Amino acid sequence: MILIENAAIATVDEAGREFTTGHVLVGDDGRIAAVGAGAATGVIGEVRRIDGRGCLVTPGLVNTHHHLYQWVTRGLALDETLFGWLTTLYPIWGRLDAGIVGAAAGAGLGWLALSGCTTSMDHHYVFPRDGGDVLAAEIEAARAIGVRFHPTRGSMDLSRKDGGLPPDHLVEDTDEALAATEAAIDRWHDPSPESMLQIAVAPCSPFSVTTRLMTESAELARRKGVRLHTHLAETDDEEEFCLRQFGCKPVEYAERVGWLGDDVWLAHGVHLDDSAIARLGATGTGVAHCPSSNARLGAGSARVRELLDHGVPVGLGVDGAASQEVSHLGAELRQALYTARLRGGPKAMNARESLRLGTIGGARCLGRQDDIGSLEVGKLADLVMWRLDGLGHDGIDDHVAALVFGPPARVDLALVGGRPIVERGELVNADADTLTATARTAHRRLLEIS
Ligand SMILES: [Zn+2]
Repeated sequence: MILIENAAIATVDEAGREFTTGHVLVGDDGRIAAVGAGAATGVIGEVRRIDGRGCLVTPGLVNTHHHLYQWVTRGLALDETLFGWLTTLYPIWGRLDAGIVGAAAGAGLGWLALSGCTTSMDHHYVFPRDGGDVLAAEIEAARAIGVRFHPTRGSMDLSRKDGGLPPDHLVEDTDEALAATEAAIDRWHDPSPESMLQIAVAPCSPFSVTTRLMTESAELARRKGVRLHTHLAETDDEEEFCLRQFGCKPVEYAERVGWLGDDVWLAHGVHLDDSAIARLGATGTGVAHCPSSNARLGAGSARVRELLDHGVPVGLGVDGAASQEVSHLGAELRQALYTARLRGGPKAMNARESLRLGTIGGARCLGRQDDIGSLEVGKLADLVMWRLDGLGHDGIDDHVAALVFGPPARVDLALVGGRPIVERGELVNADADTLTATARTAHRRLLEIS
């Protein structure tokens, strides 16, 4: 058992309960046994006591959109639009293999854990023919770091010769992609409440996937009882592509191919008109909001205030490390707040709403809201203790404001199911220097740097 004492606590539960000084007790089953104000009472048995003075405890952050493999292609195509950036990077990604993806995933997930993330998805859609088992490689990396992992089996089957964006050698045959996706679900997906590993089905985007693959992916996911994810409404270029190819806007296209519903979450949702937002709200379709990536690519800013007002589940995502080199989920809390305010003024979002996006909002996108995303008795003990008494934060007396408005805070403790994955700002199960060196070697091999 672990008992955190003397910490400020933001539960992010339905009532938004917060305690200036409180405790969290984690039971032997990896679930929260008690959370409340003041000292814990009646704690019996062997317990590790952690002094949380000067810290804020929140639910662990949930990353709802990422491409871990991109860690080894950071710092390239720095001044491009999405389509320019993709066409620059596709040829490099065509040389990916399991060793490179494993190294990238280890670095990316280690960095995410240090930024307060306890659950991450990954959207992997590049499967070079001789690349080996890249999905297995990133799953192994996630196990080594200790994060709860929701990798998706992505796919692309619409190449340049058929009117798509990716080069011909980078796409899969439609039937092969579907079969490999089903095999990944059968091999890896664990639907249990404690699950550390769940697979979702994730064809890449309207401009890299055929209508048939979209439709049959939705059918496959529903037959298997897993979730659906794709990129949608990210840029003006994508909207023009949809109007030209399908005669409708992205969300109308998604609806046509069976892709709206409470088992779907969409990456970005930047270019949405009022009727699209209303459709997402009415169908319970989620959105992974990636404000830093959208800014880095100059894609636009999502209408998050309107999405929330329509009841759309919205989570935060860092997106691939090559489209925003920070890849720090804790920092995304502030970026989301600032993006909303640049659009709608200072009332458009507050610090607590931003924290909700990063925690329970993300859990809803992944379908895990019953088990993670808030600090409540009976939920899994996925939590983060942020240090807020140093030079960067001290004196901001509202702890949630200090976390969101202040500089990225050091993670003093991150628990996943009650097991520490970060302590005192260091990874527990891996060595950051080793992750760095391994990723550097993979980067040099991929870029053919001698
Ligand atoms: Zn993406």
